[in-house]
Amino acid sequence: MTRRVLILGASGSIGTQALEIIAARDDLEAVGLAVGSDWQTAVAQARGFGLDLIGVADPEAASEAQSNFAGTVLSGQSAARELIGVTAPDIVLNGIVGAAGLGPTIAALTEGVDVALANKESLVIGGELVTELASATGAKLLPVDSEHSALFQLMEHESPDAVSRMVLTASGGPFRGRKQLGGITVEQALDHPTWAMGGRITIDSATLMNKGFEMIEAHHLFRLPYRQIDVVVHPQSIVHSLIDLRDGATLAHLGYPDMRVPIAYALTWPERAEVPVERLDLAKVGTLEFEEPDPVTFRCLGLAREAGEAGGIAPCVLNAADEVAVASFLEGQIEFSQIATVIEQTLEDVGSGAAKGFEELFAVDEASRERASEIIYGLD
Ligand code: MG
Repeated sequence: MTRRVLILGASGSIGTQALEIIAARDDLEAVGLAVGSDWQTAVAQARGFGLDLIGVADPEAASEAQSNFAGTVLSGQSAARELIGVTAPDIVLNGIVGAAGLGPTIAALTEGVDVALANKESLVIGGELVTELASATGAKLLPVDSEHSALFQLMEHESPDAVSRMVLTASGGPFRGRKQLGGITVEQALDHPTWAMGGRITIDSATLMNKGFEMIEAHHLFRLPYRQIDVVVHPQSIVHSLIDLRDGATLAHLGYPDMRVPIAYALTWPERAEVPVERLDLAKVGTLEFEEPDPVTFRCLGLAREAGEAGGIAPCVLNAADEVAVASFLEGQIEFSQIATVIEQTLEDVGSGAAKGFEELFAVDEASRERASEIIYGLD
C-alpha cells in the first residue's frame, strides 16, 4: 500500500531530504508540498514530482510562483491547512521552522492525519493541547527530531513505567567548554560541529536552547516528568539518546548523524526502510566522550527547564522570545550572550498561567514577540 505524504517546509533541510527518500521508494508518494517563501524550489520540486498543487505561505512569493507554474498555488498562512484538506494525505511531514508550524500540526491532527513532526515548536508551544488533540482524534505523532526518533525507537518494546530516565544527548555546539560567551560572531555561531541545519536551529544549538526545547518535546511525546529527563553533552553526536530501565539496563541508539534515518523511520513506521547512509564503524570512531552540560554559561538550558516545569503558556513565551532574540542576533542587533537575557526578561514580564486553548497560545505568542522586541530595543 502506498502511503501518501504531504510535505510542509519542503525547501528546508528536512523537506528536501524527505523528498529524496520518497523519490527512492515505491511505497511512499508525495501528494503535495508547501514552502514559506522559496517559491523557486517549490516549483522545481512540484515539476519533479508531477504535482499540480503547491502552497506558498508568503503572498508575494506565491504570486511569483503562480506566474511561473501551470498548476495551482495556494497562498497565505492558511495554505498548509487547505493543502491538507485538498490532498487528504495519510501523513503530513511538518518541517516548518518555528511557531508557524503549530497551526498546520493542529490542522492535520484535527483531521485525524498522522504527523511526522520535525517542527519541535508544535510541542514546545502547545504540547499539552497538541497531545490531547492527537489522543482525541487517534492521529499519531511520529518524531523526526533525531533524539526523539531515537527515544521512540528505544521505547517501542518497553512499557512506559519500566523507564526510570531518558537522557538526551547534546553535541554541545561550537562553544562547548567556553566559560563566557562574549564577542561571538554570527559566523562562529552558525558553524555547528556535527549537524548541518537551518540558521535558527543552529543558533539554538549553540546556546543549548535547542536541547531545552527537546526536553519539553520529550516530556510531551513520552509523558515523562521533567525530573526523569536529563541532558548529557556528547560532542561526537554518535549516541542519539538513551533510556534507563528499572532493572538497571540502559539502552542507547547509535549512528552517524544523518537526518535521513529519523525521517525515513517516521515516514515508513512501523516498517524499516533501506536507507543508503554510512554504516557505523565504532573502531573508526574510536572515542565517545560525555560530559555534564554547563548551565551557568549556557543559561538557555535552565530557562527552558523552568518554563517546561511551569507549563501552561510559559514554553510558548520561551519559544517566542527565543525566535525574536535569535533573529536579532542574526541581524547583528544583539550580542550572542544577550539571547538568554532577552528570553529571561520576556518570561518574567509576560508571566505564566494555564493555556486554555490554541487561540490563547497564538495571542501569547504575539504578545511575547512584542515584549521581546521592546526589551531588545531597550538594550544597548
Ligand atoms: Mg534534535
